[in-house]
Amino acid sequence: MEHALQHRERVGVQDFILLEDYRSEAAFIDNLRKRFRENIIYTYIGNVLISVNPYKNLPIYTEEKIQQYYKKAFFEAPPHVFAIADNAYRSLVYEHREQCILISGESGSGKTEASKKILEYIAARTNHLQNVETVKDKLLQSNPLLEAFGNAKTHRNDNSSRFGKYMDIQFNYEGGPEGGHILNYLLEKSRVVSHMDGERNFHIFYQLLAGGDAALMSRLRLQNRPDAYKYTTDITSPVSQKNHDAEQFRIVQEAMKVIEIGEAEQGEIFAIVATVLHLGNIKFVKNNEGYAEILNHDPNTENVAELLKVDATKLREVLTSRTIEASHDVVNTPLDVEQSQYARDALAKAIYGKHFNWLVARLNASLEPKDKIAMSSVIGILDIYGFEIFPKNSFEQFCINFCNEKLQQLFIQLTLKSEQEEYLREGITWEPVEYFNNIIICDLIEAKHKGIIAILDDECLRPGDATDSSLLERLTQHLDQHPHYKSHRKADTRTQKIMGRDEFCLKHYAGEVTYNVNTFLEKNNDLLFRDIQTLMASSGNSIVANCFKEYNLLSKKRPETAITQFKNSLNDLIKILSSKEPSYIRCIKPNDAKMPMQFDEKLISHQVKYLGLMENLRVRRAGFAYRRTYEAFLERYKCLSAETWPNFHGPPRDGVQKLVEAMKYEREEYRMGNSKIFIRFPKTLFETEDAYQVK
Ligand code: ADP
Ligand code: MG
Repeated sequence: MEHALQHRERVGVQDFILLEDYRSEAAFIDNLRKRFRENIIYTYIGNVLISVNPYKNLPIYTEEKIQQYYKKAFFEAPPHVFAIADNAYRSLVYEHREQCILISGESGSGKTEASKKILEYIAARTNHLQNVETVKDKLLQSNPLLEAFGNAKTHRNDNSSRFGKYMDIQFNYEGGPEGGHILNYLLEKSRVVSHMDGERNFHIFYQLLAGGDAALMSRLRLQNRPDAYKYTTDITSPVSQKNHDAEQFRIVQEAMKVIEIGEAEQGEIFAIVATVLHLGNIKFVKNNEGYAEILNHDPNTENVAELLKVDATKLREVLTSRTIEASHDVVNTPLDVEQSQYARDALAKAIYGKHFNWLVARLNASLEPKDKIAMSSVIGILDIYGFEIFPKNSFEQFCINFCNEKLQQLFIQLTLKSEQEEYLREGITWEPVEYFNNIIICDLIEAKHKGIIAILDDECLRPGDATDSSLLERLTQHLDQHPHYKSHRKADTRTQKIMGRDEFCLKHYAGEVTYNVNTFLEKNNDLLFRDIQTLMASSGNSIVANCFKEYNLLSKKRPETAITQFKNSLNDLIKILSSKEPSYIRCIKPNDAKMPMQFDEKLISHQVKYLGLMENLRVRRAGFAYRRTYEAFLERYKCLSAETWPNFHGPPRDGVQKLVEAMKYEREEYRMGNSKIFIRFPKTLFETEDAYQVK
């Protein structure tokens, strides 16, 4: 048998807490590398799971693996996403504590795969339970459906989720899954009308075009070619992609069946997808008066009108003019070509975005537990975009990074809270730990009246001449003194060169990000002309009518801005999460090429920083790094003392006391709590473990 030391040299340590030099990022990354090379993608920092995307299928999700985690306690089996899932499930069923699993990491790091594995594990773990098959099917099938409509190919990830997702799995008293509920956040609607070269629009467009049969295509008035449509052109995808898309389309149709979305509803859904494609092809020409005009009998407009069952003349009207109510007058003003294009794209985005929300609501209706009384408790899974720093950062990155600040704040609160509670429970003196509290950044962004969001909304509401640059001016005027805000003015000469006049910089907990303020107002307003809304509310497609009706009822009141809606839903989410016991999975992407076995050190070092892993480890190590129940500790190490071997008769605590004496632990090295031993230095444990291995 390989000696413990050699083994550690080869595969590293399975918990970063055991690293000798825990302050060194190099040592941290070295440990990751060793394990990655050995195809070991999981490592712990205490109870936080670090996962490195292997970009290849490893035989670690088999039925036997599931069994292995099913039967063991958390620390007895090697780190694994199944261990996290199992631990959450056990705590829920046997200790009745509601759970949530928070998965973070940058795009392509493996978050969504991890969330699917958790779902699969729970589905397998509850196999013996009756009457749960349909619920499990629906839970599992909700994924392909959401991914078809909410995921897209990006440079970072071929199957990138373009929305945030929180899913509750609801269990009954027997521990069987009874239903589920999904909350979705910030779909990247702009992708409907444009995407970067080499990326794609949402999967469903290509899937429909590749997989729809002739009858469906003719009903939707579509040709089987993505390059025929402006919103889906400029793709350089291989032919194999088309087969894949067609195959996925069948999976989507299958999923719809499981979710009980019938033929009629499917028809309306695909009509909406087709509508968006036709909308994109509508062209405007300049008429004699310089305004926009759509050619008579333009087939695209006719197709949209036909599919949405709205009047074609009206449709042309609302795309090329708008009515403005000025005191008592209603004035109809024509739009120019650019404004019309804006209106067209805004409509495409609105239809798709609202339809996506509708789809989530529809899924929720299908996932709702049949028997609410029997429902007991939930495990929530959060799969949400990680911190983003791009060469150019806009409103979307601002929202996403704000979300990450809030989640970091939650992490700090919950970790410290649970640490303090455990020390209290165990009767051990609490030793405060120095750490960076990012509440100051959260406040900078969301404080009432004087935070960035408040100022942004103020500018959006200000009648008259508010522009992106007036917004920037006001931000700087109010916030320039803030230690985490940097304006172009204040930036030192070095950063000034990189920072443009239309940019501001925030010092996030994960690093500095420079935001370009252009389009902030427009994206935050997210306006759709009233005439268009009214027309859509009259649509003969019941989904579209429903989506826009709601909007219209509220139309006297100004709809909330995009960022305020997001802030409110985020705060609701934080409330939900704070009421639960959290587990964390931090995902790391090993390279940008989506390749197996490539370990890009620079890229990984960035993520270790953005994920706050070194800080996480430091805090974990500051107190007692290692802790085990007396039973577990005694069971493992009882062979190390003649007094405890082969069996110790008496309270486990006394047995552990005997072990500690036999191992000659120093007073400084450990504490005896009410139910657990706390060990301060991993070295102590190493020696114990080595002694055990030698025995
Ligand atoms: P994210 O949700 O973080 O953007 P995904 O979960 O979609 O990333 O992962 C991106 C891709 O990486 C997946 O499509 C898959 O090919 C690969 N991948 C991720 N996790 C694993 C894993 N555990 N095993 C094998 N491949 C994985
Ligand atoms: Mg994802």
